[in-house]
Order: sequence, then C-alpha cells, then structure tokens
Amino acid sequence: MTGTPRQRVLSGMRPTGGLHLGHLVGALRNWVALQDTHDCFFSIVDWHALTTEYADPSAVRGYVRELAVDWLAAGIDPKRAVVFVQSEVLAHAELHLLLSMIVPLPWLERVPTYKEQQEQLRERDLNTYGFLGYPLLQAADILAYRADAVPVGEDQVPHLELCREIARRFNHLYGETFPEPRALLTKAARLPGTDGRKMSKSYGNAIFLGDDPKTVGTRIDGMLTDPQRTHRHIPGNPDVCPVFTLHKVFSSEETIRWADSGCRTAGIGCRDCKKALKEALAPIMTPIAERRAALLDDPGRIDTILDEGAARAREAAEETLRLARGGMGLGR
Ligand code: SF4
Repeated sequence: MTGTPRQRVLSGMRPTGGLHLGHLVGALRNWVALQDTHDCFFSIVDWHALTTEYADPSAVRGYVRELAVDWLAAGIDPKRAVVFVQSEVLAHAELHLLLSMIVPLPWLERVPTYKEQQEQLRERDLNTYGFLGYPLLQAADILAYRADAVPVGEDQVPHLELCREIARRFNHLYGETFPEPRALLTKAARLPGTDGRKMSKSYGNAIFLGDDPKTVGTRIDGMLTDPQRTHRHIPGNPDVCPVFTLHKVFSSEETIRWADSGCRTAGIGCRDCKKALKEALAPIMTPIAERRAALLDDPGRIDTILDEGAARAREAAEETLRLARGGMGLGR
C-alpha cells in the first residue's frame, strides 16, 4: 500500500556528557513521539563537540557512546529511526565545504549565539573557523537529508533561519535542490535542578537518566524547597518551590492537587512531598534504567546499531550530495 511519504526530520545533540531529566522533557520525549509520525534521523554530532573541545578532545569518544546509550534507553528505537554518529558520514563535511562557497561571512557573524558563546566560554580560544562555521555545519547536517522539519527550542530558531537562507541561496544559484526546513518548535520546558536554577550538568544540580534509584532519592531529598517554609507547621508557597515544578511535569493531576493544597495549608511536610515526587519518577526512570542495563550488558549491540545507522545515513546523504555536486558543476 502506498501513502503520502512521511515528512523527514533531523535532529542532533552534542556528545558532552550524560543526559538528565531536562533533556528528557526538553527533547527526547518529543523525539520518541516523532518516531511514530516522521522519518527520523538522529545524529550524535561529534564534530560539533570539537568546535569547543578541540584543545582536549579526550572525553568526546566516551561521550558518544554514553549519548547513544541515553537515547536508546530513553526510547529512541533504531528500527524506527536512524541513529548515527556525524563523523561517520563524511557527506556532512563535503556539503559543509560546498555550502561554504556561497555563504557570506556576515551571515555567520550575526548568529546571536556566536558572540554569546564566545563571551560565556572566555577561557577557551574560540577565534577559530570551526567555531564561526558551526551554524553552517549545522545547516549541512540538516540539508544533507533534505529534512522537511527540525525540532528546535526557541534559542535555535536563528540557526534554522540561517539554514533556510542557505537553502534558498543554493536553490536560487543552482536550481531547486533543498526544501526549506520548518521549525517544529519544542515548548521550552525550563526544568529546575535540585538548587532551583535551570537543570544543567555544569551547575551540578541535575538528576541524570543514568542515576540509580538510590541516587535519585538522595538528589530529591537534598532539593531546595520554599525557603520561607522553615518548619513543618508553616504553610508554604508551591509556586516558588522547584520540587513542585517537577511535580507539575512528572506527577498525576491528583498528586499535583494534593501537593499544592497540602503545602499551602501545611497539611503535608516537604518530606511527604518529596516522597511523592520519587514515586512519580520511578515508573518513568525504571524502564530507562532497565533498557540501559540491557545495553551495557551487550556493548556489541550499540556498535551494531551505530554501524547500521551510519550506513543508512550515508545512503540518504550521498543521494543529496550527488544533486549538490551536479548543481555546482562538479564531476566529470
Ligand atoms: S511541601 Fe512540597 S511544594 Fe511545598 S515547599 Fe515543601 S517541597 Fe515545596
């Protein structure tokens, strides 16, 4: 039976260490759902990691495997999505080179994250072409698959806009080759970490997908609560409490109502509230932990999945590259 072909989606993550609940809510849950409706390509973008980690890349290889395990444990299914490592598909590099011929430098210099990240990572020398060309490589990642859509957060929209501009310019110069990929906006879910700031590995406040139940329990027990609620009998304000924010994301309606009113009336203590959060997280984290354990028991399976993913990605990207080379007058 033939139907309308599914729309193609490309997304990637930099391998920079274990994923946490923020990644699960901000991206992975969405990716898992997209597998049912779209033709998905998920790329571990290790070349992108090098743009900032080039001076000491020793950890990148380990992080690549770790990221693959996190994705698969979270429910990315290699039978329904192509999971691959960017540097194993050389077509990305070639397309990056071809596109570099037509991209005016100011297009890259004006990307907001270029200046921002240089400011944030002052201890590193990011005055390199690789770093400036980061959004161009990202455009090549997307255009290599002629993706119809890209799941992005608000902060990535300018990068995608650049990618669309590059596609338009290429099509204008050499004929219709690339679709302009749409943004599939992922609702910004700023999950708080244990200290109330945005959950982030670099703040040391994250609950990782790879944490065992005991560690998850310890992290939740140590979570910041409403600072005004210094005693059990003092009513609290759940609106300023990161534990309650996590309830709103992970707990049932009933538990959310229970925590909300129990906190405001001092009917429950923070210990009860945190216990309920642990209970809400258990059915989410247990299947992830089980899949992770099965994968770690069978490391050859991770290699097979990544090998097969790279082969499928190469095939799709090569088809695009043939068009791009031809359009630009290359070949004999
Ligand atoms: S009862 Fe719950 S919502 Fe209220 S302050 Fe304690 S942990 Fe936070």
